[in-house]
Amino acid sequence: MRYVPVIGLEIHAEMLTNSKVFCGCANEFGGAQNDRVCPRCSGMPGTLPVVNQGAVMLAARAGFALECTVNNYSAFDRKNYFYPDLPKAYQITQFQYPICTNGHIRVCDTDIRINRIHIEEDAGKLVHDDYEGISMADYNRCGVPLIEIVTEPDFRTVEQVQRFVEEIALRLKYAGVCDSRMEQGSLRVDVNISIMPEGSSEFGTRAEIKNLNSVKAIGRAIEYEISRQSEILDKGGTVVQETRRFNDNHGDTKALRSKEEAHDYRYFPEPDIPPVYISDEELDEIRRSMPEMPNMRFKRYTEEYSLPAEDAGLIIANKAFSDFYDAAVKIYPSYKQVSNLMLVELNRCLNDSGLSAEDLKFSPENLAALVKMSDDGVISKNAAKDILRTMFESGKDPETIAKEQNLIMSNDTGELEAIVDKVIAENQDSVESYKSGNQKVFGFLMGQVIRFAGKGANPKLAKDILMKKIND
Ligand code: ADP
Ligand code: ZN
Ligand code: MG
Repeated sequence: MRYVPVIGLEIHAEMLTNSKVFCGCANEFGGAQNDRVCPRCSGMPGTLPVVNQGAVMLAARAGFALECTVNNYSAFDRKNYFYPDLPKAYQITQFQYPICTNGHIRVCDTDIRINRIHIEEDAGKLVHDDYEGISMADYNRCGVPLIEIVTEPDFRTVEQVQRFVEEIALRLKYAGVCDSRMEQGSLRVDVNISIMPEGSSEFGTRAEIKNLNSVKAIGRAIEYEISRQSEILDKGGTVVQETRRFNDNHGDTKALRSKEEAHDYRYFPEPDIPPVYISDEELDEIRRSMPEMPNMRFKRYTEEYSLPAEDAGLIIANKAFSDFYDAAVKIYPSYKQVSNLMLVELNRCLNDSGLSAEDLKFSPENLAALVKMSDDGVISKNAAKDILRTMFESGKDPETIAKEQNLIMSNDTGELEAIVDKVIAENQDSVESYKSGNQKVFGFLMGQVIRFAGKGANPKLAKDILMKKIND
């Protein structure tokens, strides 16, 4: 039988606050185990949580970035369960009144609805030492502020899921909510998946695959689940609702535990934290401070600037890079030329040096001036690349570099004519060979002209003069 997968996501994103969500411990990645814990985030009885306003603000920004309604009123609840990485034996989360609801993101021409975004605290980490046969608890991550983004089961293909996760990761970065480093676990995806016979509209029973930490792993886990569940149904069996873990080495999923229901958690309103109220004025202020989202930039680049989709995609993939591009074309709107120089030459410099777009020593004004010099024929296209490299290394402005390196194209016809005459006189054999049909030697002759005229020679002018004189 042929089946259609039905998929919904729960995405956890760690927010970029300075401190944890309910205490003053630093919110950082890495470091020594249990170095950033206090009585509050390690769950000592009698300690009181205080909500980090920065975390509330970032969650609201996430809501705007993902086209949700950001609610004036939200509140915290306790979700009770025991696990060694959760010393309080309950997690503070938002259950009944999440901060954001009803979002939409369009991917692969499909609308994916976001049911809610809520704020919660992260749990700690267990470190398993197979050699000693023991497990240790590291509570550094306890109380790190998270948002959980819950979608409706609107996905039908792997492609849609992967593009969606990439889009969310990028938008959260643009909004300054999360660094979206999946490999470091700052963005983690749970995939809920069921299958139904083709043509049916009744959803099947789902399995939940926890904590996928790359777009590739998401794809492999979904493919594996589709075949596992299809096999069960084909044999007349039933899929059980459960939580499963994906094993990256084997490419398969294994059952972890049977799925718990909401009532198992005995949710109740968190008595130690007053509800969160954000006024319309505050919401307006947050909305106004939002940067343009990458999807809007993509639209602007492809529709208004006529950049190829692939180039536009490469530019928006990094906000600082895209900001730099925007600033440069605002000064000098040569959209394609600026894009070409950045995507090829500048990216090469960045890759070679390991630096990122935030670290550039030269300004968008410098880049705009460089492209203008090239467009105006003041320097050649090749010289523009050399100058960019020097700008990257020294931070000097392009005019100074062009002068220092003698790259200003000379449009002195007289000087070039003299050089061409000399080259023709000294290379009579090649000239004859060219005249008798050997086109290739023209390149050699051009090379000789440029050698004497220097890099500052205008190659087009030199070519015209050479062509004319040989054919005379
Ligand atoms: P619960 O309250 O049991 O956790 P939710 O309604 O909150 O269930 O859904 C959790 C996640 O599972 C959501 O991402 C949702 O889109 C997804 N989901 C719900 N039903 C199905 C289904 N039949 N198949 C696949 N995914 C589903
Ligand atoms: Zn703490
Ligand atoms: Mg749920």
